[in-house]
Amino acid sequence: MPKPCRYVVSACLAGIPCRYDGRSNLRPEIAALVNAGEAVPVCPEVLGGLPTPRTPSEQKDGRVVSAEGDDVTQAFASGAESALYIAEEYGCSAAVLKARSPSCGCGRIYDGTFTHTLVDGDGLFAALLRKKGFQLFTEETFSPDKA
Ligand code: SF4
Repeated sequence: MPKPCRYVVSACLAGIPCRYDGRSNLRPEIAALVNAGEAVPVCPEVLGGLPTPRTPSEQKDGRVVSAEGDDVTQAFASGAESALYIAEEYGCSAAVLKARSPSCGCGRIYDGTFTHTLVDGDGLFAALLRKKGFQLFTEETFSPDKA
């Protein structure tokens, strides 16, 4: 059994270069949580078998579709399930997730038109965590002082 920790976090926020463009979204306060053993990093899209870099995707009408028109719903769904499994194995009860991502976004995501237009909704991984009762933060709402 792994050592339990409170947080599961988007791996890109911890500095892992797993974004669609091969970069990270490093937030030093999130990397510090991981380095202190208080958080486990996961990337649902990589866990779903998608390569890095990859074509960006957005949710549309209950599916996930890439900017090239490929339906990648199955990879996103299976990656979200794998990431949930890891979070539960580590006994996590809260998450800090990358805002607006089709996997990790919490509350607001892009609308599927690739025009940076936001709509209400969760990414696939965030939706699973919400259903399981995890406390959800994004990098924009998380404050280590209040953790
Ligand atoms: S799926 Fe989540 S962890 Fe992976 S790059 Fe996108 S936002 Fe970051």
